[in-house]
Amino acid sequence: MTLETPIEYVKGIGSERAKLIKNVLGISTVDDFLNFFPIRYLDKSQVFTVSQLQETPNEVQLKGKIIAVQEIATGKMKRLTAKFQDATGTLDLVWFQYSKWLKEQLPVNQEVYIFGKLNLFNQQFSMPHPEIEAVESKNNDTRLQPLYPSSEKLTKRGMSQKYFQNILKTICREIPQLIEENLPEELMKSMKFLSRQRTYVNIHFPKNQLFYEAANRRLKFEESFFFQLGYALKKLHHKTQSVGNPFSIVGDHFVDFYENHLPFELTNAQKRVLKEIRTDMKKPIQMNRLLQGDVGSGKTMVALLTMLIAMDNGFQSCIMAPTEILAQQHYNGIKDLLKDTRVKVSLLTGSVKTSARRIIHEELENGELSILVGTHAVLEDKVKFKNLGLAIIDEQHRFGVAQRAKLWAKNRIPPHILVMTATPIPRTLAMSFYSDLDVSVIDELPIGRKAIITAHRKEKDRNYVYQFCHEEIRKGRQIYFVYPLIEESETLDYKNLMEGLEHVMDNFSNYNVTMLHGRMKPAEKDAAMNYFASGNSQIMVATTVIEVGVNVPNASVMVIESAERFGLSQLHQLRGRVGRGAEQSYCILMTSDKLSKESRTRIKTMTETNDGFKISEVDMQLRGPGDILGTQQSGVVDFKKLDLVNDGEIIQITKKLVEKILEIDPHLTRIEHQIIKNFYLKNYKGKNKWSKIS
Ligand code: ADP
Ligand code: MG
Repeated sequence: MTLETPIEYVKGIGSERAKLIKNVLGISTVDDFLNFFPIRYLDKSQVFTVSQLQETPNEVQLKGKIIAVQEIATGKMKRLTAKFQDATGTLDLVWFQYSKWLKEQLPVNQEVYIFGKLNLFNQQFSMPHPEIEAVESKNNDTRLQPLYPSSEKLTKRGMSQKYFQNILKTICREIPQLIEENLPEELMKSMKFLSRQRTYVNIHFPKNQLFYEAANRRLKFEESFFFQLGYALKKLHHKTQSVGNPFSIVGDHFVDFYENHLPFELTNAQKRVLKEIRTDMKKPIQMNRLLQGDVGSGKTMVALLTMLIAMDNGFQSCIMAPTEILAQQHYNGIKDLLKDTRVKVSLLTGSVKTSARRIIHEELENGELSILVGTHAVLEDKVKFKNLGLAIIDEQHRFGVAQRAKLWAKNRIPPHILVMTATPIPRTLAMSFYSDLDVSVIDELPIGRKAIITAHRKEKDRNYVYQFCHEEIRKGRQIYFVYPLIEESETLDYKNLMEGLEHVMDNFSNYNVTMLHGRMKPAEKDAAMNYFASGNSQIMVATTVIEVGVNVPNASVMVIESAERFGLSQLHQLRGRVGRGAEQSYCILMTSDKLSKESRTRIKTMTETNDGFKISEVDMQLRGPGDILGTQQSGVVDFKKLDLVNDGEIIQITKKLVEKILEIDPHLTRIEHQIIKNFYLKNYKGKNKWSKIS
């Protein structure tokens, strides 16, 4: 038997079963079988006493005696109970289905081991259908027993857990010496890994819990390591970095603004991120950086300071937002910050008039204009820059790769690119899977922010919610009501929104209510937004158009209707529309009474945390990493052992390790790296679906 041997030749399988196993489990070689990992184990290595019992989903083992057996009949139902006793107490054993034979054969007053799951009823443990084994006849193999993922189809054909255990026993007996090491000795030592042979034996038949953990850790490590290696090799050798304009100095524009016009002290995170960007832009290589920061973490200021550095180096910048409203807001904000400087800023969106547009085009081409704020309109071919050195994209998820490419083409030497997003993807994902972007994170909010209070309310609480809103308005605050928007059924949503609007108007008849939705013309949207922002109306009823970036500091209550219909990151974005001023803010999640388990988790997460990164991790747990990264990449994250949500540490260690190795040995030519290289070439290169990524 070798690793490549087809499974039909393994003792006890044969061609018929081999076919079935292949169909159901996708296993065709001995090697596949070795990599068919148990989902859990039965642990007979420990013996508990009755006094130690506590709730656990797993089986437990006890040693003692059966002291009495009794048959109990209730109506037509019969059950068999037995009293089990050890030095610390007693436990009822129960059979709901049993044979006469069992009743007669129960070993009363003999030393036995019992093994099974516990049942808790009325504070009382019992053990239904235990396995019983006489102490003297017990086999002394205390290893954990593997349980494999199987299916009814296989069980029905006689391939039980026992069957798989036996096959793997055979394989683990004959094969280990053929399993080759794939990590350098030094690493094995420093990480205190089990040898690869022992790893496989112990993942199937762990000597005890510790050995299981050691084997498991090594397998996760390997998986992450070789994944990262493949990834890094590709990045290193297949992706040529583009030439970029080095921004070698920090000059007057930056310094003057930083010293004289900065309205607040930067947070440490802002400073750190700025340094990372600065270091990147100094190089004659194009920057491609993703800036992640929770809503309200102050990304705009980082963007502005970055643009001032570009200007100091003689280059123009542009910043693009996904909607007119956002572009307008950025423009207002940036203009305000720069009002005491001589830096020239303009706004370019689809609704800018031709005459104004002509001036902008001119000033861009002759270099008079330093900073352009805009929407997709910036990408149009007519828009030509004298020397675009930096392009910033806000809220990245709405811009595609093609659009980024258009930006590149705006200058002979492509501009540095900074992509800003407030929908953080979990750190582990970002670190491992953004091949073409480096990642900076603002992980700190400006001090003095009041955390938003989030509450979950149901239809029956609606009157209280309205009362609460009335009180807030009386205090001078403003309120958002947001309705879900699902693209497939725009008509229905429009109807929802209209009904909602009517309802709100009925209940808040003495106030001004503004409406905002996707079907309005840009100018209408702007007017509505401005009307609300300037305090002329107290309530805004909207669809998710307001999701991203909208900034009205006086708005302190966000009511989200049918909150169960929103995804987690969307809820978090919406909540970020409040909590922008000095007042305590609230987010109220209105839902129907009945919620699915997943909706409940989403709502609960929202009420428990304001941390966007935590939220994105829960989101990943709920939806799976594939969904978050986008469908075409979902195959990327089919790991056997590695868990992207919980194995962040391993991912980080392996990433650093790979970087270190490739830095000194980019082609893996050193002798001590042959072991890695050979394994990689044999098992990963070309075969993996990861090659889809880059
Ligand atoms: P986001 O990261 O969501 O785009 P913004 O850039 O809109 O956040 O910033 C949110 C608010 O916080 C703005 O009003 C901004 O002026 C303010 N802000 C940014 N940085 C700081 C800071 N270091 N200290 C105090 N306030 C800040
Ligand atoms: Mg923003």
